[in-house]
Amino acid sequence: MGTRYRFRNWTLTPKREAEAEPVKVAYECADCGEMGPTDENAEAAQAWTFDHLRENPRHVNCRQHSVLPYTMIPGDFQ
Ligand SMILES: [Zn+2]
Repeated sequence: MGTRYRFRNWTLTPKREAEAEPVKVAYECADCGEMGPTDENAEAAQAWTFDHLRENPRHVNCRQHSVLPYTMIPGDFQ
């Protein structure tokens, strides 16, 4: 006798604020690809860009990465 599998529909959705871990941000230098620390304190994450510029005066382009909590919500079986 074989095993039967039932497929389920799932929805990916942002977590509600009350139950979610905090949003975190990190900055990446777009000139060399180095990443700063990921931190829920945006100012702390941004401080890395100034330190990096001081060490690399031509690295003036950055990318912000945001870490947003999401969750999977189970739906109907197919
Ligand atoms: Zn850089």
